[in-house]
Formats: sequence, structure tokens, C-alpha cells
Amino acid sequence: MPKNKNEQVEQVKVSEAEYSFAVNLMQYLVVPTFVLDAQGHVLMWNKACERLTGLMASEVVGTNEHWRGWYESPRPCLADLVVQNRMEELDSLYVQHDDPTSLGFGLHAQNWCEMPQLGAQLYLAIDAGPIYDVEGNLLAVVETLRDMTTEKKAQIELERLAAHDGLTGLTNRRGFDERLDAELSRAIRDQQSMALIMIDVDHFKRFNDTYGHQLGDECLREVASGLLTAVLRPSDLVARYGGEEFAVILPSVDQAGANAVAERIRQSIAALAIVHSGNDALGVVTVSVGLACGVPSRGTNEKDLITLADKALYQAKRSGRNRVAALRWDDLVIPGA
Ligand code: GH3
Ligand code: MG
Ligand code: MG
Repeated sequence: MPKNKNEQVEQVKVSEAEYSFAVNLMQYLVVPTFVLDAQGHVLMWNKACERLTGLMASEVVGTNEHWRGWYESPRPCLADLVVQNRMEELDSLYVQHDDPTSLGFGLHAQNWCEMPQLGAQLYLAIDAGPIYDVEGNLLAVVETLRDMTTEKKAQIELERLAAHDGLTGLTNRRGFDERLDAELSRAIRDQQSMALIMIDVDHFKRFNDTYGHQLGDECLREVASGLLTAVLRPSDLVARYGGEEFAVILPSVDQAGANAVAERIRQSIAALAIVHSGNDALGVVTVSVGLACGVPSRGTNEKDLITLADKALYQAKRSGRNRVAALRWDDLVIPGA
């Protein structure tokens, strides 16, 4: 219902010529638009809406099958939610929407739509606004649509670039920090075991000095794909932590499982057999691996986890490189815990 009388549409007497001009205006408006009556039947479906959906006005006017323009199976469109006052369904039906402060001002939402007549998904920005008579009764609901697919895809790509490393394609430090934060909170909440693995390429400075920076970059790319092959579960995260250091988060894993992954990582990098004459006895690129695992106690933060995994990595380096060293979260000393 409108908030007050000022928001109600003045009833204006129009001549037949004016009426047909208004209808034409609507039909040829460049903005895809359709109108539902108070019972949710299509009153009008303009040319731009035909172009956007591939569904002709003759197929939908008089029916309540307008959903066919956007979706494979029946579901309410934004205009239906206004007609039926079903605001509580916005969350489940749209990927994004504004808060419906007052229905008098209409609704705004955005969604990926299946577009069954076109055979290609589109991301649409949708507005639906009610029209009332002087008594405040709903007369009709006007829905307008805007194709935002290009902008949305660009936004998704930008977000992807912001969270990934340009050299290796792995999740970058920023993406890693976000994920570690989420996994740590979850592990603390569910009191479940998780692991963090830090990986550092052995004597990589010598590699650069011997083979040059470009081959160094190529080596880091190969190590990155070696890590992805060694870490099998889709829920695990492999990240470039910085320089020649990588990090792996293993959610819901016990000590034995985490040890197995850490050892598999060590072995699969050596098995890449990237020649590295400066790497002591083996003569191929190897990594040292620091593993920290267990059920994190309440009060643990991300820095604590990284410090412990780093400590394990340092032990692996100190005891000869090309090996795994493991510590447990119980080894963490948390001030005040
Ligand atoms: P350690 O076995 O103790 O880890 O020795 P290290 O030589 O690997 O360690 P150090 O930290 O001394 O050297 C790391 C080297 O990694 C130095 C740096 O130039 C190189 N590096 C870091 N990022 C990149 C990169 O993106 N590309 C290349 N080619 N080299 C990098
Ligand atoms: Mg290093
Ligand atoms: Mg190193």
C-alpha cells in the first residue's frame, strides 16, 4: 500500500488519442518492460521485452506465464512478489536485492536468469513498482529490466584477479587470509581438527643465480601445479603465500591425513625433477614443508596458526631441507588462554 495520499497516482481523464499515444510509448520504449494486473496476469509486454526474452507478447499477454521469459520452470518474478506482497521470498529468489523499505517505492533485485528462449544465461537488474488508484487499491505492477551481464562478468573477473596470483594462478595472500579466517572460525566453532601447511622452495636464491629469474618464474609455476596435483580434495586450498613460499589449508583433517598430504607434497615436487645443480645432493628442486595440525582452541587466531606452521617449516629447513616437520596446535602457547 502507498504510504500516503501524495504518492497515489492522480486519476487523469485522457482522450482516446492520448491513451493510444501512451500505449505506443510503452510498446516502443527501449527499456524492456511488462505490466501485470492486480491478479498477476500480463497486461502489456513491450517490444524491448520481446527482444530481451525472445518471448512474444502474443504468447504471454492475458496469461500468468511470464516466468517463461526468464526461467525454465514456474517461479514468481519480481512483479509477482509485489502483486502478492511476498517480500520475505526475495532472499531465496534473487542473488541480490535492495531492502524493501516501502512497497510504494517498488523493489529492486538482480539475478542470473536462464533465458530458455535464448539458450544463454543473462544477469539482469530488475525493478518492479506498483500503481494504485486514488483509494489505494493496487491497479497494476510495472516491471523493467536491464541486461547487466557484461558488467557482472567484468566484476567477477576483477574479483577473481584480486584474489589470485598473476604468476602461478593460485589464490594469493589476500584470498588465503580470507579463507584461513573462515576455516579457523569454523574449526573452533565445531571443535574440529584442521591443518595449515607452509612450503618453501629449497635454495631458490641459488636457482635464480644459476638459471636466471625467468627460469625461476617458470620453476615456481611448475611447483604450483605440482602442489595442485598433490592436494586432492576440492575443499583444500593451495595459495602462493609470497615469493617462493606456498601455503595449503586442509579443513577437517586429522593428523594422519595431514601428514600424508604434506609428505605427498614433498615427494611430488621432487618427482617433477626440475634440475637444480645448487641444491646439494639431489640436484633437483625440492621443498621443505612445515605442518601444523589439530583442533584449535578458542582464542587461537590466524597469526598463531601461521607462526606455528612457520616454526615447523624452520625445523624442516634446519634439519636438512627436503623434509616435513610437524607440530600440533597444542604446542601453541596462547597468552591468556
Ligand atoms: P632456503 O632453502 O633457506 O629457503 O633458501 P632460499 O634461497 O630459497 O631462501 P631465500 O629467502 O634466501 O631466497 C628466496 C629467493 O626467492 C630470493 C628471491 O629472489 C626468490 N624469489 C622470490 N619471489 C620470486 C619470483 O617471483 N620469481 C623468482 N624467479 N624468484 C623469486
Ligand atoms: Mg623463503
Ligand atoms: Mg626458500
